Amino acid sequence: MKIDCDVVVVGSGVAGLVCALELPEDYNIILITKKNLEDSNSYLAQGGISVRRGEKDRESFINDTLTAGHFKNNKKAVEILVDESEDAVQSLLKYGVEFNMKDDSLAYTREGGHSKFRIVYHNDITGRAVMEGLIKKVKTRRNIRILEECEMKDIVEMDNSSLGVIAKYDNKYTFINSKYTVLATGGTGGLYGNSTSFPHIKGDGIGVAITHGVKLKDISNIQIHPTSLYEEKIGRRFLISESVRGEGAKILNYHGNRFIDELKPRDVVSKAIFEEMKKDNSKHEWLNFRTIDKDINARFPNICKYLMDIGIDPKKENVPVVPAHHYTIGGIDVDMNARTSMNNLYAIGEVANTGVHGTNRLASNSLLECVVFGKRAAKDIKNNYTEEKKNLDLDNLAYSIDGNYEDIVKKRIEEDENSKVK
Ligand SMILES: Cc1cc2nc3c(=O)[nH]c(=O)nc-3n(C[C@H](O)[C@H](O)[C@H](O)COP(=O)(O)OP(=O)(O)OC[C@H]3O[C@@H](n4cnc5c(N)ncnc54)[C@H](O)[C@@H]3O)c2cc1C
Repeated sequence: MKIDCDVVVVGSGVAGLVCALELPEDYNIILITKKNLEDSNSYLAQGGISVRRGEKDRESFINDTLTAGHFKNNKKAVEILVDESEDAVQSLLKYGVEFNMKDDSLAYTREGGHSKFRIVYHNDITGRAVMEGLIKKVKTRRNIRILEECEMKDIVEMDNSSLGVIAKYDNKYTFINSKYTVLATGGTGGLYGNSTSFPHIKGDGIGVAITHGVKLKDISNIQIHPTSLYEEKIGRRFLISESVRGEGAKILNYHGNRFIDELKPRDVVSKAIFEEMKKDNSKHEWLNFRTIDKDINARFPNICKYLMDIGIDPKKENVPVVPAHHYTIGGIDVDMNARTSMNNLYAIGEVANTGVHGTNRLASNSLLECVVFGKRAAKDIKNNYTEEKKNLDLDNLAYSIDGNYEDIVKKRIEEDENSKVK
């Protein structure tokens, strides 16, 4: 089967949804996603989204991002992120996303590495609130066709130009033939034993980039989150958001003593916990919520409910925490318009590496990066989609690919069958 479109967006996290929504409404867009629309790490985000608080906050926000990233960041990318952050939050509000408010203005919280309260949030379920707003909006767009349970298996290229993707949909291989392809497939967390990520988000975008020689950057650079909930069961680790520490929770060792400033950047706190675990010969350390000077059930309802459901009362006892894989910093190398080294192929969100995070991501800068660079990719496509390109005959191109697309589809089916036999 073959479907033609202007743009195919692979992945329905915040990056993919924002990009699809920002593209002109007369484009024929196909948005494919491996599971259901909601099944993304974006949906799991708890803490919030960083935003510059006016021009006077510019230097401080840039400096916090660079400090957390050990000054290995791409400074240009950081400036873009910070300067376009207020516009990014305005776009989310325009799409119907709701954030917590205080006296008719946005409410702000703080997380590790931020020297100011500059994070907008929705209780402790910011990701769910953002995703619900965006999903509702995307479903109203008649030019965006959504294919759930549709898995990208490969990209199709000719002369280092992308011609679309091969996807498995409804148990059939389908060639989605597009003028532009946007990879928004998230990070690599699903490949790790201890991770806060959904297991199905496991580096598929990076996989196809490797197959086709698309340039990657800093691919071994992974962020470990200091405080995932320690449980005996195997599987996705439940996150105890950094904003819990931002609001005053303290990390304790086995003897009940503090050993680290909880608001240091994530890599510093994770390292300190690992070292303390070694000394204590323990599988975890502890987080004390009782030092928070707020009603924790009101501020962190989702986290408190999860803990109570498994028999831990954070108002009365310490919570066991362990560092876990949380974020893929490295990824597909992109420029400031999200272009990859392959023509017509874009990468946005966690699958991409804009250089914004350096060697360690500052808390709540990831959803922001998804919005800022999702918007930039859409704008770049729009600016370059000439009449000549619009009128390109996709059918002719598809048949002139080496061995034509039908052979490529056949090859993928054979590979799939062979992997089942093994
Ligand atoms: C528990 C948790 C809490 C977090 N909290 C925060 C926070 O408070 N603030 C913050 O800024 N960041 C936070 N992060 C990080 C942030 O959520 C992610 O970095 C961000 O959501 C990534 O968005 P994305 O759109 O790039 O990818 P994702 O949201 O991960 O979405 C990837 C999409 O690609 C699809 N996909 C993958 N492979 C394929 C394929 N082969 N074919 C088709 N579709 C495919 C997936 O199904 C999914 O729809 C958190 C992360 C986790 C795990």
